[in-house]
Amino acid sequence: MIAERLQGVKDNIKNAAENRSSEKKDDVLLIAVTKNHDVAAMREAIDAGVTDIGENRIQEAKEKYATLDREVTWHLIGHLQTNKVKQAVKIFDIIHSVDSLHLAEAINNAAAGINKIQKVLVQVNLAKEDSKSGIYEEDLDELLYKVDELANLQLMGLMCIAPNYEDVEECRPLFAKMYKIFQKVKEMDFKTANILYLSMGMTHDYQIAVEEGANMVRVGTGIFGPRQY
Ligand SMILES: *Cc1c(COP(=O)(O)O)cnc(C)c1O
Repeated sequence: MIAERLQGVKDNIKNAAENRSSEKKDDVLLIAVTKNHDVAAMREAIDAGVTDIGENRIQEAKEKYATLDREVTWHLIGHLQTNKVKQAVKIFDIIHSVDSLHLAEAINNAAAGINKIQKVLVQVNLAKEDSKSGIYEEDLDELLYKVDELANLQLMGLMCIAPNYEDVEECRPLFAKMYKIFQKVKEMDFKTANILYLSMGMTHDYQIAVEEGANMVRVGTGIFGPRQY
């Protein structure tokens, strides 16, 4: 079941990528979001070709990390509290949810403590939703320059979560705007940052996100079915 759904998602990504305007040529990386799904489901997905997984909560990820006997790239896609940063840097290859200097500094310190260069994305709250984390667009450049200064962080791009619109097409202008911001950020003069990734799109909107220029999508339900809480 997981393998079939995964193939369907990959086919949809391929079709969406073919619908992109000609200047968008990046490969699209699929992150399988495994929160609230067990290690058996993770193994099944990885054996069917998943290379990257996304988790939201540190405690859940920690238990799975200890149990999962597969090589895979770990993405933290959920909000990170500073008191969990130490555990996060031990587990995750990329942290998508940096949204303040305070958090960036905490991650930098924890990474320095284990001699790691932690890859990070900065999360943007483009629609300014109270319910979501992320920095506002007008404060973005300043945060990016400061993150770039932190020796144990490597800034690699941007992440955003679209509002849950009733009509998913309403996401399109927002994703298009994120892509414009991403293009602008790529041109900024950084010391060590290497701006490669634009992480946007979930089960209900990843095809639109890819059409508008996402090169990382985070899909859970579309691969694993509904989450059991
Ligand atoms: C849960 C989650 C996803 C995946 O959501 P689905 O709708 O199940 O695809 C993607 N991104 C973030 C930040 C999430 O929290």
